[in-house]
Formats: sequence, structure tokens, C-alpha cells
Amino acid sequence: MAAPKIIIAIDGYSSCGKSTLARQLAAQLGYNYIDSGAMYRAVTLYFLRNGVDLSNPAQVDSALGSIHLHFEYNASRSKSEIFLNDENVERFIRDLIVAEKVSEVAAIREVRKFAVAQQQQMGKKRGIVMDGRDIGTVVFPDAELKIFMTADLEIRVKRRFEELCESGQEGTLEDVQHNLAMRDYIDSNREESPLRQAADALILDNSGLSREEQLEKVLAWVHERVAKQQPLLNKLS
Ligand code: C5P
Repeated sequence: MAAPKIIIAIDGYSSCGKSTLARQLAAQLGYNYIDSGAMYRAVTLYFLRNGVDLSNPAQVDSALGSIHLHFEYNASRSKSEIFLNDENVERFIRDLIVAEKVSEVAAIREVRKFAVAQQQQMGKKRGIVMDGRDIGTVVFPDAELKIFMTADLEIRVKRRFEELCESGQEGTLEDVQHNLAMRDYIDSNREESPLRQAADALILDNSGLSREEQLEKVLAWVHERVAKQQPLLNKLS
């Protein structure tokens, strides 16, 4: 019998390496990886392009009604890429202009309802790794494995700055530090689904871990959770 598929929810501060871990796990387990932050970034891109006034609920509602998001798997990048109204917007959504606005957009209740409903739909078939800020607390409160990731701010800034340089984008180390601190503050203090560690989440501080060490540690957690599901499945078959 095939191993039961579980839901893995990864939450944490900005640039902790959540997406790297999620992608590695999905590849190892044959699961689907969904980057929930990409959805908030794509909505922000649409709002910026169309000059949507965030303080005007009617404009926000109407804009959300015109947005269709979907993911398509890109085998060469081992990653699902996000499409905004059928346009692949991966190369735009990581710009600092979007990063400067995304936490404000993600704090809007209607935007969260819009994104969460789609995320929950994607989890119906299980066998999914999703990363974000509210995955273990709101999107999948019953996920079999919840991980809350942290890393020292200096390390996170350095990683994000290197990513920005690699993708040929503008921005100084100070810009990146300011953006991460600002997003963490807004994400943790907003009224709607603030970033919180779920009571049953396992903490992963990866400041001193290599990618390989981190993956090994988390795969052990996954196998333990999958083994717990097996007897339940046996009872049903
Ligand atoms: O994960 P990433 O850094 O790309 O997310 C961008 C922003 O989207 C976060 O700073 C946060 O404001 C928002 N977000 C969120 N809830 C999620 C995922 C991302 O509010 N589940």
C-alpha cells in the first residue's frame, strides 16, 4: 500500500529559507509545493499596475473579482510558477517595489479570504507542502506536520540580498534589511491572521544548519508523522 500523504505547513519570518526547504521536501516526497506568498505578491502586482486604492474597499473588491491566479509546474526550476490572469509573473513579483507593498495588501481581510479559499482547495488532495505566515494556524489548522522557521536577522538579510543580486535586481543591503524588518513587523502585528507559531508547530532555527542538515532533520519529522497515519489508513482498508 502507498504511504499516506500528509499536509506539511511551514510558517515563519521573511527570508528564513522556507521556500528552499519546501521545494526540497516536495521533490523528495513527490508532493506539490505551493508558495502562498507568491499569491499575495501577484495580487499586489495587479493592484500596483492598476492603481488600486487600498483604502477603498469597493476598489479592492472589484479588483479581486478581476484576478485569476493559478500555478504551473516548471520542471527546469523544480517549482510551480504563478500566473496572474494567464501571464507568468514570477520575474516581477520578487521586485522590491512589490515587496514594499505586499504586507499592506496581505493585511486586508478580503485579500486574505480570496487567497485562503484557493489555498484550502489546493490542499484537498493532501500530499502538499505550503509555506507562508498563516498556513499552520488558519489555512490548514489540521496539518499533520507544522513547522515554524526562524533564523537570525543578519543571516536572513544576507540571503535575501544575495538572491536579489543573483536575479540582477537593484537594492542595497540596507534596503533589504529595512524591507524584511518592516514586513515582519506588519505580518506579526496585523489584525487578520497575524504571523504566529501554531501551538503544535515544531520550531526549526536554521541559523547554523546547512541545507542538507536541515532537510535530514525535517525528513525525519515527516517520516514520523506519516508512520502515525499508517495505522489509521489500515483501519479503513
Ligand atoms: O513568503 P513571501 O515573503 O514571499 O511573502 C510575501 C508577503 O506575503 C509576506 O511578507 C506577507 O505579508 C504575505 N503573506 C501572508 N500570508 C502568507 C504568505 C505571505 O500574509 N501565507
